[in-house]
Amino acid sequence: VKVLDAWRNILGIENVLTDTATVSAAQTATFATTQRVLALIRPGNRAEVQECVRIANEYQTPIYPISCGKNWGLGSRVPVQDNCVILDLSRLNRIVDYNEKLAYITVEPGVTFRQVYEYLREQKSNLFVSVIGGSPEASLVGNTLERGDGFGPYGERLDYVCGLEVILPTGECVYTGFRRFANAKVANLNRWGVGPYVDGIFTQSNLGIVTAMTMWLMPIPKCFQLFTCTIVDTSHLDELIDAVQTLVLQGMLRSNSFSIWNSYKILASQGRYPWKKMLKQTPLSLKSLKGVEPWFGNGALYSGSQEQGLAERKLIEQALNGKVAQLVFIDENSEFFKESAFIGVPNEKTILSTYWRKKTPIISSLPMNPDRDGCGVIWLTTVLPFDGSEVLNIIKILESTFNYYQFEPHITLHCRTGRSINVVIGIMYDRDVEGEDRSAMECHDKMLHILLQGGYFPYRLGIHSMNSLPPAQDDYGKLISALKRGLDPNNILAPGRYDFRSDWFDTIY
Ligand SMILES: Cc1cc2nc3c(=O)[nH]c(=O)nc-3n(C[C@H](O)[C@H](O)[C@H](O)COP(=O)(O)OP(=O)(O)OC[C@H]3O[C@@H](n4cnc5c(N)ncnc54)[C@H](O)[C@@H]3O)c2cc1C
Repeated sequence: VKVLDAWRNILGIENVLTDTATVSAAQTATFATTQRVLALIRPGNRAEVQECVRIANEYQTPIYPISCGKNWGLGSRVPVQDNCVILDLSRLNRIVDYNEKLAYITVEPGVTFRQVYEYLREQKSNLFVSVIGGSPEASLVGNTLERGDGFGPYGERLDYVCGLEVILPTGECVYTGFRRFANAKVANLNRWGVGPYVDGIFTQSNLGIVTAMTMWLMPIPKCFQLFTCTIVDTSHLDELIDAVQTLVLQGMLRSNSFSIWNSYKILASQGRYPWKKMLKQTPLSLKSLKGVEPWFGNGALYSGSQEQGLAERKLIEQALNGKVAQLVFIDENSEFFKESAFIGVPNEKTILSTYWRKKTPIISSLPMNPDRDGCGVIWLTTVLPFDGSEVLNIIKILESTFNYYQFEPHITLHCRTGRSINVVIGIMYDRDVEGEDRSAMECHDKMLHILLQGGYFPYRLGIHSMNSLPPAQDDYGKLISALKRGLDPNNILAPGRYDFRSDWFDTIY
């Protein structure tokens, strides 16, 4: 209670929330959780964040920072551990700096993808930010700190970010790169600075609170083309993957500019489970129902001129000839083209997929909110070698596990580089159906176990999987322990979040 009063003195009573409705919403994710949240505190600027952190230390109360809290499928706003106070940074929502010529934008954690998109449109900018398939109301900072992935060449976000402003768990402020020098001319333009490069330790970690960040923007290309392709069945996936691997490695397709979706991902982004047709049975199998289970490729070409674009289009057509059943370049006047995430247009369409198994109508007067509406979503991410037969082998294992637990496989493959491919696996279910929370998590755990045994690791974790990794073969845990002890002696910042300390077990047991 005293700690809440101390925060109220700094933030005002309206920004220290303890009412049941707020707390219970913040404790709700898209899967079952048991963590209790003590309160939500909402600082409005960097100095208030620092004060909040100092108070947390004084009263030894753990805080859990979130930016926009749309981490749906990975824990939403729920802290990893019990009895934390959520430090909600969404009021820090200023676009601090923007430069068209040098192509960057500096944002606070509350700035959303939609906000940046609209801002750039107002500025008549010729630049765009790589957006996610998730909520337009998600945060650029939150997504970057999770090492999330976006569409298009700048989708590997961390490659295009610099100059972090970080509040350490003791309340001090550091800037990364050249920003630590007050008059540095390239603070927003160079990632490395001089000296140890530390940006990485503030991503997927609990070592700092990021209160501002510069993200580089991509120029809208002179010639932008979108294409889709289809393969009729999973058994042909390996050929497509190998053809695309060559294209990405050679640079013909830019990184994050091609992804492959299975039928269930497409169906769920367009509508609901066909309960009537399926006579209320699960899972849906297109193979049994229609005899085919197609996959769909989506790609984009970013070219410097029409001539270059035409030549690249020909090369894609040649490379995919015989590997796909259908290859279509999208008409640039179509809605699909104009609203493409590949050119930085955020949209809500894929949020619909979280309602896939729901039987109740979506409340059209309110923004979609899977936490509120009992949508079951659990993500499992992994990264595989970019090799057709190896990917196909894993996909088949995943599909049979899904089938065993009576869920449809929702699988997307994202071509990040020419060497590895990201697999995003979604378990979509209805939290209101008794027993589904449990079997969905069992399905997740089983798949994760199979992947780990095969040497395939997740590249991102949710609050449900933070403690799922096997021990490391080296002294990584000791390094992380030393950093955590040094930076957060009272262990008040996001305990348990990507916490790979070697002495971590001593702190929880
Ligand atoms: C249908 C669907 C599609 C999706 N598609 C994508 C996709 O294409 N790519 C993708 O990456 N994700 C995707 N997601 C997952 C998720 O929605 C996004 O990653 C989203 O960006 C996370 O929410 P947020 O940005 O509001 O971050 P938050 O929820 O605010 O932050 C995520 C976590 O980062 C930490 N954190 C946040 N801010 C700070 C800070 N300032 N300082 C320190 N730590 C902090 C916290 O631990 C927090 O829990 C998808 C989800 C759904 C449901």
